[in-house]
Amino acid sequence: MDKLLKDLLNAPGISGYEETVAEIIKKELEKSCDSVKTDNFGNVISKKGTGKKKIMIAAHMDEIGLAVKYVNDQGYIYFIKVGGISDGVLPGQRVIIKSQKGDVYGIIGTKPPHLQTPDERNKVVSYDNMFIDIGCSKREEVLEKIDIGDQIIFEPNAGVLNGDICYGKAVDNRAGCYAMIKIMEKLSVNAEVYGVATAQEEVGLKGAKTSSFAVNPDFALIVDTTTAGDVPGIEGKVSSLKLGEGIAITLIEASGRGTIVNNKIRKMMLEAARENNIKHQLDVIDGGMTDGATIYINREGILTGILSLPTRYLHASSSVFNMKDLDAAVELGIKTIEKFVKL
Ligand SMILES: [Zn+2]
Repeated sequence: MDKLLKDLLNAPGISGYEETVAEIIKKELEKSCDSVKTDNFGNVISKKGTGKKKIMIAAHMDEIGLAVKYVNDQGYIYFIKVGGISDGVLPGQRVIIKSQKGDVYGIIGTKPPHLQTPDERNKVVSYDNMFIDIGCSKREEVLEKIDIGDQIIFEPNAGVLNGDICYGKAVDNRAGCYAMIKIMEKLSVNAEVYGVATAQEEVGLKGAKTSSFAVNPDFALIVDTTTAGDVPGIEGKVSSLKLGEGIAITLIEASGRGTIVNNKIRKMMLEAARENNIKHQLDVIDGGMTDGATIYINREGILTGILSLPTRYLHASSSVFNMKDLDAAVELGIKTIEKFVKL
């Protein structure tokens, strides 16, 4: 796996705690852009080129995770969820508490089946009844190592499953950050192009709102992830996206509560894909939305397109994607922007 992609997947950065991943992205963008800054909100905003049109490429850099809420007398740590996580993915997970004093490893505790009542065996424990064990037996001992409010991430685990099929923590949306960085690196158009890594997407598309207000682009291209349906238990009518079938062009999010991509942009992106033989799939979804949903209704309305990487097991400790689909995102991103600049 590419080193930059691996570093991005492994970096910590739950919503609001993006400093470490922001620093990696900033350093990388500095190699290809004219300027890079981090704004008050925590968004990384890079700029490249000159021209009449302003283009923004946005990828959110925050990941879903947990935060320390309370430590009991026996030294067990209780937490809140930051972003959408199913309680069912938490029991038994290895986590890292990113403390000011360093990394603290912990295990989310589970009740062994030997001790469960028949009723308990069929139920998922609610996250507020779960706890993290860091091997300490007293509250005071724990608070010497960590603080209330510290971010908690799933243990980094990036790697290759088989061929082009890769996995890792925070694929949503470090894969998108990787594509944004690569597009900024390779793109050469007569336009002012802004590559933005947005903060706090998972908790309400917040950084996209502030950064797109500042940039005020003529066209915004979002790169994010979407749910693949090529696994047991998901019917084609729920999600027909498959790994390896190309990058998804998202048209309608959350049954229309999210972005509804404008017909002109839809046509432009499909043409860009067809003219350049870039493998793509179409994505229309009942649930879930991207930064596009807030950007396209910002100011007086901003033309917005969305590229989504089909991903298995979104918002779990490890998600799976195809590297070729991510390469297709970079290629289609570039061709789409080239087309928009000529419009
Ligand atoms: Zn996302």
